Amino acid sequence: VALRIRPLSPQEHASGETECVTQLPGVPQIVIGADRAFTFDYVFSPEVSQEQVYDDAIGPLVDQFLQGYNATILAYGQTGSGKTFSMGTGLTISVTQPELQGVVPRAIGTIWSSLEAKSKRHPAFTYSLDVSFLELYNEDLVDLLNPRSPTAGGSGGGRGPTIREDSRGNMVLVGVERKLAAGEDDIISYLHQGALSRTTASTDMNHTSSRSHAIFTIYLTQQDRRSSLILSNAAGLEPSELDSGMSIVSKIHFVDLAGSERIKRTGAAGDRAKEGISINAGLLALGNVISALGSMTVAPGATSAGAGGPAPRRGTMHVPYRDSKLTRLLQDSLGGNSQTLML
Ligand code: ADP
Ligand code: MG
Repeated sequence: VALRIRPLSPQEHASGETECVTQLPGVPQIVIGADRAFTFDYVFSPEVSQEQVYDDAIGPLVDQFLQGYNATILAYGQTGSGKTFSMGTGLTISVTQPELQGVVPRAIGTIWSSLEAKSKRHPAFTYSLDVSFLELYNEDLVDLLNPRSPTAGGSGGGRGPTIREDSRGNMVLVGVERKLAAGEDDIISYLHQGALSRTTASTDMNHTSSRSHAIFTIYLTQQDRRSSLILSNAAGLEPSELDSGMSIVSKIHFVDLAGSERIKRTGAAGDRAKEGISINAGLLALGNVISALGSMTVAPGATSAGAGGPAPRRGTMHVPYRDSKLTRLLQDSLGGNSQTLML
């Protein structure tokens, strides 16, 4: 978990507001008010640059993704706290000020250049990248790269994208276009296209991004024909069986979550009908899934059978992935041996 504190906005300065968060020097800890202290894996103060946030907190996950692990980066916070700025999934993806680029365009650059470099070094290495960009609003999935496709609750009468689980426990999206990316610029343009249809859709459907989740996903398939050949020879396979089987598949999700303030406001009022604000099921379920995963962390090497020592009973805790589409969608990318960062 990384905490990023954004600078006070000009309006906040103008209305005389002051910082409410105190950072403790040398430790990733903050204090709110007089005595409420919180510790994180990283704390980024207002002066910290986009580049440093990427290098410290995101780069390691991108490396893991390139090695074949699934990864998820979630931006969480109330509206105006800097989620879209940090992720770089907004429409103002900066061309004139590259130092303001957020996490996603930086990750795309790293991913593309390291794969290119690897395929130059090893002629037997090949890879392909696809992307998808989804919006989740009120438990309806919208394919932002194919906005004409029907949504589950839409008037088209068609079925929107749906989530299935395959026999190996991978989450599969049905009815979502995965666009093959032929280059770095290609991926950036999909990011742009999705951001554009997100804002268009929001005026049409009279909702704002503060109530929906945006999920940008990069899928990577890597193949090394030479090691496949060695492996398949060892296994006594025919060369024709090579290309179908021996590949490493991974995905990385970048999630710009709905504004967290709606939960608080609803919770405080305790009267949904009166407030007219519905609890965002995805955010609630995500919180529950993360606390379940956090409390069942088992020491590396320990098995669920608890070999050598008392079995960690908490390891069998139920993780409520099925409570929302958001957690269902991320099921194979949260927990397990996948890497997750909440910013
Ligand atoms: P959110 O997506 O959480 O609603 P935004 O990313 O739109 O919030 O940020 C709100 C405003 O604050 C934007 O104008 C954005 O440019 C600015 N902002 C957010 N974080 C920073 C930061 N670290 N440095 C400078 N400006 C920021
Ligand atoms: Mg935003």
